[in-house]
Amino acid sequence: MAESNTEQPNGASTTPAAPPLTTYTPRYIDIGINLADPIFRGRYHGKSRHPDDLKGVVGRAVEVGCTKLIVTGSSFKSSRDALKLTKEFPGTVFATAGIHPCSSSIFSPSHHKHHDESQSEGEDEAEHTPACGPDPTKPILDGDGVDHARSATIIADLATLITQARTTTTTSSSSSSPSPSPGLVAFGEFGLDYDRLHYCSKEVQLHSFSVQLALAASLSPQLPLFLHSRAAHADFVRLLKEAFGPRLERLERGGVVHSFTGTAEEMRELMDLGLYIGINGCSFKTAENCAVVRGVELERLMIETDGPWCEVRPSHEGWKYLVELEVKAKAAAAAAAAAEADAAAAAAESAVPPEGQEGHGEAGQPERKQRPKKQQQQQQGKKNQKKEPEVPERYNVVKKEKWEEGAMVKGRNEPCTIERIAKIVAGIKGVSVEEVCEAAWANTVKVFGVDS
Ligand SMILES: [Zn+2]
Repeated sequence: MAESNTEQPNGASTTPAAPPLTTYTPRYIDIGINLADPIFRGRYHGKSRHPDDLKGVVGRAVEVGCTKLIVTGSSFKSSRDALKLTKEFPGTVFATAGIHPCSSSIFSPSHHKHHDESQSEGEDEAEHTPACGPDPTKPILDGDGVDHARSATIIADLATLITQARTTTTTSSSSSSPSPSPGLVAFGEFGLDYDRLHYCSKEVQLHSFSVQLALAASLSPQLPLFLHSRAAHADFVRLLKEAFGPRLERLERGGVVHSFTGTAEEMRELMDLGLYIGINGCSFKTAENCAVVRGVELERLMIETDGPWCEVRPSHEGWKYLVELEVKAKAAAAAAAAAEADAAAAAAESAVPPEGQEGHGEAGQPERKQRPKKQQQQQQGKKNQKKEPEVPERYNVVKKEKWEEGAMVKGRNEPCTIERIAKIVAGIKGVSVEEVCEAAWANTVKVFGVDS
């Protein structure tokens, strides 16, 4: 669907028999990446385990074609940190600002710290944001409701944070990037998460979502919304409609419901309301999840990693599409090599070397000129012997204790893995990776304006 460069790598003109080798270079925007999490600075649960490798993480993302990263703000602190990152990586990193349902206990009187943790002591303790991460070890007290005076202050402070962020654009300090980029591109992450009421009660979550929606609706101009909804669909849609109208007709810039794991009906309703669906590794866990992904229209699709969480695992239903793709790629490569060898053999047979140049061509040709048949057969044999086809890692993966420069850390998902999301979506939907990438790119640019 998008223009792609179909010229062959060696510049040779294609013959009808040639395999459909396109040189499409995928491009990705990770719409949900928690780069403000200290884990990307080598800090795990308040303890430093390895050097700060955030630059490496961003570098790997850019290397695979993920050139735009929308960093999730899910609390005051992480929103501020995300905004700081937009200055560190102008034109590459963009930010959202909001209060995640799992961070919404700040609205409750039992919350004993200042809601803006960057203004209070003991940051180390509070620096690991829960967001979509694993469950906490200590449950929070339930049943003490909403502190309304505190709530008014929180919303006023969030409004100030947003206003300040919107009045500053990011420019490169090195002056090599003259055009300023918007730092803040969305309101959120916010919403409802009834799977994790141990972070924050339903009552407080509903309050947090509702007052933030009112703030989002009052902004002039509005920001697009970055939304989270988990096991809370009916309340989620009801509150959205209360804020923006029954058809969300007052929602000026649209929004995305990220990390989608709901049902096909829920997804349909969100798409009908004009919302986009964010797909990450959590969306591929079961066969039912994958069936839902199959129904996401390309015009409504966005992709994300939600790193450091939500990586695609071999136990996930979606993993098999990566394996399938790998098998296909290997078969295609073997077929191409065989065809090339045949063509080379035929050419060698019919070729009459020009006078005085005998023997020259052979030395000057790349090694693939004469591939012995035996070698091909060996390759085929090896392929057939392999019991479990593996999905290769693009980068080395090491445990955090054995951290090394240039390697990914085991268990810490990062944006360069977004290529897997695109591949799996393509496999599930039976479309090309190019179609997935280009659709998601266009949708994201349209809503968040990150291509300026
Ligand atoms: Zn989320």
